Amino acid sequence: MLSDTYQHTFIDVVLPLPLPGTYSYRVPAEYVSQLLLGKRVIVQFGKQKIYSAVIWRIHHNSPIAGKVKEILSVLDEYPVVNEKQMQLWEWIASYYMCSLGDVMSAAMPAALKLQSETRILLHPLHDAYTQPLTDDEYLITEALLSHHALTIRDISLITDRTNVFPLLRTMMDKKLLLAEEEIKEKFKPRLVEYVLLEPQYVDDENALGLALNTLEKKASRQAECLLVFMKTWFDSDRATEGILKSQLSGVTGFSDAAYKALLKKNILVSVKKVEGRMEAYEGTVSAPALLNDIQQQALTLIQTQFEEKQVVLLHGVTSSGKTEVYIHLIQEQLNVGRQVLYLLPEIALTTQIITRLRRIFGNRVGVYHSRYTDYERAEVWQSVLSGKEPGSDKEGSGYDIIIGARSALFLPYSNLGLVLVDEEHENTFKQVEKTPRYHARDAAIVMAGIHEAKVLLGSATPSLESYRNADSGKFGKVIMSERYGGMELPEIVIANLKEAARKKQLSEHFAPLMIDEIQKALGNKKQVILFQNRRGFSPRMECETCNWVPQCINCDVTLTYHKFAGNLRCHYCGYSMKMPSHCSACNDTKLTLRGFGTEKIEEDLSTYFPEARVSRLDLDSVRSRNAHAEIISDFEQHNIDILVGTQMVTKGLDFDHVSMVGILNADNMLSFPDFRAHERSYQLMAQVSGRAGRKGARGKVIIQTYNPAHYILQNLVDGDHQNIYDKELDERMRFKYPPFSRLIELTLKHKDYKTVNMAAATLGLSLTAELGNRVIGPETPYIGKIRNHHLSVILIKIDEKSSPSAVKEIVQKQITTMNQLKDFKGVQVVRDVDPV
Ligand code: ADP
Ligand code: ZN
Ligand code: ZN
Repeated sequence: MLSDTYQHTFIDVVLPLPLPGTYSYRVPAEYVSQLLLGKRVIVQFGKQKIYSAVIWRIHHNSPIAGKVKEILSVLDEYPVVNEKQMQLWEWIASYYMCSLGDVMSAAMPAALKLQSETRILLHPLHDAYTQPLTDDEYLITEALLSHHALTIRDISLITDRTNVFPLLRTMMDKKLLLAEEEIKEKFKPRLVEYVLLEPQYVDDENALGLALNTLEKKASRQAECLLVFMKTWFDSDRATEGILKSQLSGVTGFSDAAYKALLKKNILVSVKKVEGRMEAYEGTVSAPALLNDIQQQALTLIQTQFEEKQVVLLHGVTSSGKTEVYIHLIQEQLNVGRQVLYLLPEIALTTQIITRLRRIFGNRVGVYHSRYTDYERAEVWQSVLSGKEPGSDKEGSGYDIIIGARSALFLPYSNLGLVLVDEEHENTFKQVEKTPRYHARDAAIVMAGIHEAKVLLGSATPSLESYRNADSGKFGKVIMSERYGGMELPEIVIANLKEAARKKQLSEHFAPLMIDEIQKALGNKKQVILFQNRRGFSPRMECETCNWVPQCINCDVTLTYHKFAGNLRCHYCGYSMKMPSHCSACNDTKLTLRGFGTEKIEEDLSTYFPEARVSRLDLDSVRSRNAHAEIISDFEQHNIDILVGTQMVTKGLDFDHVSMVGILNADNMLSFPDFRAHERSYQLMAQVSGRAGRKGARGKVIIQTYNPAHYILQNLVDGDHQNIYDKELDERMRFKYPPFSRLIELTLKHKDYKTVNMAAATLGLSLTAELGNRVIGPETPYIGKIRNHHLSVILIKIDEKSSPSAVKEIVQKQITTMNQLKDFKGVQVVRDVDPV
C-alpha cells in the first residue's frame, strides 16, 4: 500500500555551465525536508565532475528518459538565490537567447559556484592554531600548510569522503579556507593625502607666529602657502583630521614646491590615508545638501511621474546637480525601508560616488563590481542576502544601497524600491565580450518590475532609445537645463585642421588654437583634459614605397605602434611583434608612422609644454587594479596638469579645476562605419566637454576637425542638442534602425574560412525562408578575422509590429538545425540581442 502512494521527490537544478535548460535529480528521503528553491545542492554531472547547482524546481514527476542520479547533499541552510532573482535569470536567458547556466555563471561569485576543479587555499588570516578543529579540518589545514593549493578532488582523497562540499563550506565560514579565484587580485586601497600642522604649532601661537615671520623674510612663497593652509584649516574649525591636499591645490598662493619645503621644515605634516572601499566608513555623516529651486522642481516632478510611470528619464545637462537629486530619492527609499541599486557604467566612476554617498549614508553603502576580488563579492552577496553587515550578526546592519557596475544587478535583493541608472546612454552597460550579453539598463528595468520598484535613468545625453521612450510617453521625462549654481555650459570652438594644415601652422597634431588655449589654462593654474579615442602611439605603420602595412597574424586588423613598449600590437588579440626595420613586401627601409594615439599626444605635450605635468589615462596605463583610481586621484589633487586619454576621460567625473577640454580628432569618430556613429560621437564630445568649467569660471572646449561643417559639430557649438536628436531619429526611422526596430546579431565563428561561410549561407537561407527580408546578410564584418577565427554576420531586424520572442524562437530553431549538420557542428554562433 504504502509503496504505491510513496512519491519520489525530484528537483531540477541549474548548473553553472553553458548547457540548455535544467537537469533533474532524485532527492534521497533524508534530504527532502531541507529542500527549498534557491538553495544549492551538490550533484555529480558527467562521469566524474561534481558541482554545486541551484534548485530551480521541486516536483514528483519522474523524468521519463534515462536513469536519474541522486543528489549528494544539500549545501545551504538558507537559499542563496531568491525567487525574484530566479525570475530575473529566466528573463535574461529567454530575452538574450542563452541558457540559465550562462546566467548563473555570470551572476554568482565563484565562491558560490564550487566545483571539483576549484583550487582551495588556506585563508591568509586563518587562525587554525586557536580554533578547535575536527579531525578532517585538521587534515586539510595540515595538507595546506605544506602544499600551496589543493583541488577539491585532492581534498576528497585526503579525507576519504566523496562529498567534501559541506565540510569546505563550514571551513570557509570559519575563515580557514578560500577558493582560489577569491584572492587572485589583492585588494590595494586608494590613498588620499591630508595636510596637518605639525603638533608643536597647534596650540602654540607664538611659535607659529615666529615661524611665519622667519618665512616672510626669507621665503615669502612658503609663508603665503602656509597662510592658505591656515585659513582653510580655520574655516574647517580646525578639523582634527587636517585638510585634504586636493582642497588646497589650485588655491592661489598654494604651490607644490612651497608645500614640499614646509614639509621639510617640519611646519606642515602630510598624512596619507586609505580611502577605503570595503573598509568601514568612519567619517561623520551629514544630511543631504539642500536642493536649489531647479533641483527641487525636478525632484517633485520625478515623484509625481513615478505615480504613473515605472521609469523616468532625467535629462539634465552635465553638472546640473543630478547626483544631489538622486541622493534625495535614495533617502526617501531608505525612510520606507526599501533597498536602492545605483548602477554606473564604469567601475572607475564608483570611487567618486562612493565618497559622496558615504558622507551621507555612511556604512549603509555597499559596493559591488567585477574588480572586487571574488572573496569581497561573496561577502557583499551574503550581506545583501542576510541583511547583516559582513562579519556582523546585527540584524538590519546590512547594505541597503548598492553602488556598482553591471554585475551589481545580480545581487540577492529582496525589497528593492529604486534603481538609479546613471549615464544611462553608456554602451558599457551592455555586456559584449561574453554571454549572456545583457544590457544592464534594460535588465534593471525588468528587475525593478519584478520588485515593483521605480527606475530613474539619468543622463546629459540620453540614448536615442530612452529619448524616444520618454517622448512616446512610455517613460516619464524630467529636464534640468541649467548647471548648478548658474555655471554656464562651456564655450565650444572648432579648430579647423584643414586650414591650419594649408597655412602650415600645425604643431604635430595640434592646431594653433589648441596650443594657445592649453597655454592659457596652464597659465591660470587650471587643468586640461585632452581626448583622443585611440590608444597607442600610431595606429599604423606604412611602407612609403609600396604602402605595405603590418597586419596581425591572428586577426584582420593593422597593428598599432606602442612606442614605450617598442612594439607593434594587436588591440583585438594582444599579439605583438618587434618594430620591423624594413618592409616585408619590398624590403625598403623607409617606413613611416601614420595617425596618432594617446601615447603620441603625451609625448608631444612634453615637447610643447615642458613644464606641465602630463599623465595618460587609457587601457594601457591602467592595467593594474588600482592604477585608474590613482591617476584620477592624482588629477583630483592637482598633481597632474594635463590628462590625456581615451573614452575613459569622458565619463561623468567631477573635477573642480578643469577649465579647458580639447578633442583632438572628431573625424574618426564621426566617420566610424556604424549606424550609431553620430549618436556616439555626439555623446562622447558632449560628455567630455561637460568636464570643463564645473567650478569657477566658464570652461572652454576646442574640437579639432577637417570637417567643420558637419552638422553634429555645428549643433554642438550652438548648443542645439534637440536638433541632433530630431535628425538622428529621422534617419533611424527611415532606415528602420533601433529604436524603430530591434536587432539580433548572429556572429558565426570558425577556424576555417570556407566552413564559416558555408554555414552562414545555410543559416541565412533557412532564416530568410521563415523571416523574409528581416534577415540581412550573411556578410563578412568590418573585421573579418579575430584570434584566428573567421567571422560571418547575419543581422535580423525585427520591426515594431513583430513579436521579438516569436522571432527568437525561429532563430534558435534554425541555429540548432544548422549546428546539427555534420560539416557545421564546430561552428560557433554568438547571439547578440540588441547589439550596441
Ligand atoms: P551632475 O550629476 O548633474 O553632473 P552633480 O550632482 O555632480 O551634477 O553637481 C555638480 C556640482 O554641483 C557638484 O560638485 C555638486 O557637489 C554641486 N552641487 C549640486 N547640487 C548642489 C546642492 N544642492 N548644494 C550644494 N552643492 C551642489
Ligand atoms: Zn614596401
Ligand atoms: Zn590580433
